[in-house]
Amino acid sequence: MIRVTAPPVQTRSAELYARARGVLVGGVNSPVRAMRAIGRDPLFIDRAEGTTVWDADGNAYVDYLASWGPAITGHADPVVIRDLGDALARGTSYGAPTEREVRLAEVVIGAFPSIERLRMTSSGSEAVMGAVRLARAATRREAIVKTEGGYHGAVDGLLAQAGSGATTLGVPTSPGVTAGATAATRLVPYNDLHAAEAALEGAAAIIVEPVAGNMGVVPPAPGYLEGLRAACDRTGALLILDEVITGFRVARGGAQALYGVRADLTCLGKVIGGGLPVGAFGGGADIMGVLAPEGPCYQAGTLSGNPLATTAGLAVLSRLAEPGTYERLDEGGARLEQIILDSGAPVTVNRVGSMLTPFFTDAQVTDYAGATACDTGMYAAVARGLLARGVYPPPSQFEAWFVSTLHGDREFAATAAALAGALEEAVA
Ligand SMILES: *Cc1c(COP(=O)(O)O)cnc(C)c1O
Repeated sequence: MIRVTAPPVQTRSAELYARARGVLVGGVNSPVRAMRAIGRDPLFIDRAEGTTVWDADGNAYVDYLASWGPAITGHADPVVIRDLGDALARGTSYGAPTEREVRLAEVVIGAFPSIERLRMTSSGSEAVMGAVRLARAATRREAIVKTEGGYHGAVDGLLAQAGSGATTLGVPTSPGVTAGATAATRLVPYNDLHAAEAALEGAAAIIVEPVAGNMGVVPPAPGYLEGLRAACDRTGALLILDEVITGFRVARGGAQALYGVRADLTCLGKVIGGGLPVGAFGGGADIMGVLAPEGPCYQAGTLSGNPLATTAGLAVLSRLAEPGTYERLDEGGARLEQIILDSGAPVTVNRVGSMLTPFFTDAQVTDYAGATACDTGMYAAVARGLLARGVYPPPSQFEAWFVSTLHGDREFAATAAALAGALEEAVA
């Protein structure tokens, strides 16, 4: 059983972090990994298997990060490893079509009735970039509506959040993003159908996470997604569901299957790459036909549909097709939720299936304003306490915890014990 009693020695991670800062910006290749949001230094990971990650000092952690979502059947899934081994020997990239891409596309299309044609990319960000460009090309309109606190990758035009309230013209969140890049971005609060309806007039599309995962988990209010569908039909705008997290996570057919909503364009990533770099977007044959080489809208990628990534994706999606998988994922999520609620902390847990976020507040969290109003200092203290006790949560309040198909009694018992200790220390 994983149970760290004394604080684990993390000196090797500290050494590597010092070296990393000499060569990588902030010591990391993606900002949130630096763990600044929870006020500690990052752990350097050496290996992972099943539900466990080991740091460079050999400490083991029950993992709820899941590489930010992909590791849904656990790390180093034996089927993925076996298939990747076979694939490796046949070369890593050809820059030409392969049967594996076709098979992966067939599996995705089989799971998502709204998708007739797919385009694969190397990341979720690229999938979003392609979907947004395509939506503009297909509608011959420019404005894109996005929700506050909605994250769609490191895409210039969508790095805009602005203040809360009604529709606000997009203001860049990051220096380096030109005012021009976000001038056609319209911001609305998540779960605010009225604001979205107004913003959709004359817009090319709304892009939305059908279950928000990047302000912490925030489920769609009843009727919200259906209302967006109706507003898009009325205004001629396209509904882009960013299912980079939720695709094959909350249901095989993603959140659109769970809530019964049809997307015009769907963005995928994370789970469909089985831990390798991947993304994809798709929709009806007519809209997708606007994309090159069938149509004039350009989109391309040297490693798109990469043979290793598609192999890993196929392996994971075949694992997820095993009977009872989504029931098991939901049950795991429910058990983790109960552990957090039973801890006695003043906490609200938002959960959809195997993704959840604890917010330290007694209020409901239904949008970005609500998420940012909760006690992020308490989250940071609890997260630090968990990392000192052999449990690895996301190192930020505004992220999802992920349960895999392998989390069970051992992991949940260790988590309950670690959480009790972490909370006691955080309150003190
Ligand atoms: C992670 C994520 C992305 C970006 O995917 P990358 O592979 O990191 O580029 C886009 N949208 C959502 C909802 C995500 O969670």
